[in-house]
Amino acid sequence: MGRVLPARNVPFPSEVEVLVIGAGAAGLVAALRACEAGAEVVALERDPVPRGSTALSAGLIPAAGTRAQARAGIGDDPARFAADILAKAHGEPDAAAVRALTNAIGPAVDWLEAAHGLAFSVIEDFAYPGHSAQRMHGLAARSGEALVDALAAAAEGAGVPVLCEARVTTLFADEDGRAHGVEIVRPDGSAERIGCRALVLACNGYGGDTTLVAEHIPELAGALYFGHPGNEGDALRWGAALGAAARHLSGHQGHGSVAHPHGVLLTWATMTEGGFQANAAGLRFHDESRGYSEAAAEVLAQPGGVAWSVFDGRIAEIARQFEDFRRLEAMGALLTADAPDALAKRAGLPEAFAATFAFFEHAKRSGGADPLGRRLAGLPPLAPPLHAVKVTGALFHTQGGLVVDERARVRRADGAALPNLFAVGGAACGVSGSKASGYLSGNGLLSAVGYGYLAGTAAALIGR
Ligand SMILES: Cc1cc2nc3c(=O)[nH]c(=O)nc-3n(C[C@H](O)[C@H](O)[C@H](O)COP(=O)(O)OP(=O)(O)OC[C@H]3O[C@@H](n4cnc5c(N)ncnc54)[C@H](O)[C@@H]3O)c2cc1C
Repeated sequence: MGRVLPARNVPFPSEVEVLVIGAGAAGLVAALRACEAGAEVVALERDPVPRGSTALSAGLIPAAGTRAQARAGIGDDPARFAADILAKAHGEPDAAAVRALTNAIGPAVDWLEAAHGLAFSVIEDFAYPGHSAQRMHGLAARSGEALVDALAAAAEGAGVPVLCEARVTTLFADEDGRAHGVEIVRPDGSAERIGCRALVLACNGYGGDTTLVAEHIPELAGALYFGHPGNEGDALRWGAALGAAARHLSGHQGHGSVAHPHGVLLTWATMTEGGFQANAAGLRFHDESRGYSEAAAEVLAQPGGVAWSVFDGRIAEIARQFEDFRRLEAMGALLTADAPDALAKRAGLPEAFAATFAFFEHAKRSGGADPLGRRLAGLPPLAPPLHAVKVTGALFHTQGGLVVDERARVRRADGAALPNLFAVGGAACGVSGSKASGYLSGNGLLSAVGYGYLAGTAAALIGR
């Protein structure tokens, strides 16, 4: 799949001004925006209902300088947000792309609220590592499913057709790389062609393609993929066939705390609030404060590809606000004991675990150095009841992709933009650099909603 054929002499029974492939957050925002700019738009989605990885996410969009922040009395601005992104990824992302996204995302969130009734509020009771201000915007349900449903409802309200069960298999383009249309295949195997004047690739990255994952993120080859399985790297293949540049393909968001074998996320608040991870030998193996994304490969590198996340009753109470945590409790994933040696017994860990626990707690109290580099002084102590959950590492989504300009136009290797092709969300190169550690919470929906907002307007200008 993901092929490009010559457009010459290919008839298109119908043509639209702007065609969008994929109806997750990125595609729906791009379609809404293009419609508002006066273009005739159609979005194509391979699934029966728009869902994508967006529906699997927490639906939290980081944005600076919004009305929701002003209502909550939070001072923030795009430059500060941009600095946080660049700091997390050690300056690797393209500064112009970071600027374009951080400038666009605030107005995008305000516009979704004012024009389409998405009532955002800012998360204020939890600090996201690496963000110097409270800027995570979510709908009341705090779920990605609610976000994608609200966007799909907005598209319907605006009269944007979202054609579901329409998998795009082929792009048709001329020698200049201008896209003329696509072929879609329906579940019954029938094929249709649709012409377009501007084309927006919003079909996310390649997390659902095990071969591409093994090639670009070998440390997570064979790891659990927690994102939408239908994201199979089509944008990347089409882009490559059209001479587009791709960058940071090894960049991704991983997670080092997916309960095993339950396959349910255990919130990283279990670590940031003072817990730690131990391997099957009962030993800590990394600095848990660096972040959940880079922890995925650390956990997978341990014997059996698993670890135990250790925390206590106080932390469990904080974690209980998340539905996933409550599910884990109901599934019996939490082991509980009153002392470290008893917890070790329950988990089948060797005696070394009790020493690991004692050292960790002593360093917290005494301010002693942690050989793994974590700042332990001042962290709250772990007190009975103690809990342990067996976890593994997983891939959430890929962050590398097609290189785009400040309007989300796809660039060739020489830097020039392709005539009428856009890439948004996970289809575009994100702002996390080439490593898992460069992922700042929210970078996924930032490039979905931010690039969707920019591309929709620009594609309408080309398409009309
Ligand atoms: C468990 C989890 C939690 C996350 N939490 C967060 C979070 O809280 N904040 C955050 O910012 N990010 C988060 N992310 C990342 C975030 O979900 C993604 O970055 C974002 O949803 C990407 O949006 P998108 O529109 O590009 O892709 P998607 O939402 O995946 O949409 C792409 C759509 O394209 C369709 N498609 C693919 N190929 C084709 C084709 N050939 N033809 C037609 N349709 C096609 C797919 O079916 C899909 O519906 C999380 C991800 C996961 C997996």
